Amino acid sequence: MSAKKSKLLEDLSNQPEVAVCGVKVILDSVTPDEADALRKIFEQKLQNTNNSVPWQKNKITYSWLMDVLAKNGHPISRQGLTNHIWKRCACYGSVG
Ligand SMILES: [Zn+2]
Repeated sequence: MSAKKSKLLEDLSNQPEVAVCGVKVILDSVTPDEADALRKIFEQKLQNTNNSVPWQKNKITYSWLMDVLAKNGHPISRQGLTNHIWKRCACYGSVG
């Protein structure tokens, strides 16, 4: 007599996967130095957008960032980029 397999248990173990953040994929694939530099840029971009910092001489734009990343073999959508920078991605516990 074999135990009847619970359909509920089976379904519950089949959990949906969290959407992977495109930026996380990039951060995981580059060197630690590169990942650090990217994180700094993202932080800068967030601050630039939140308040215009007068002493900030670099104006980081999404198109510039996308361009640089694409040129280096890491294409990413603007949506993916903004979601990460604004902490609305899976990295920050936000699931669409
Ligand atoms: Zn992310």
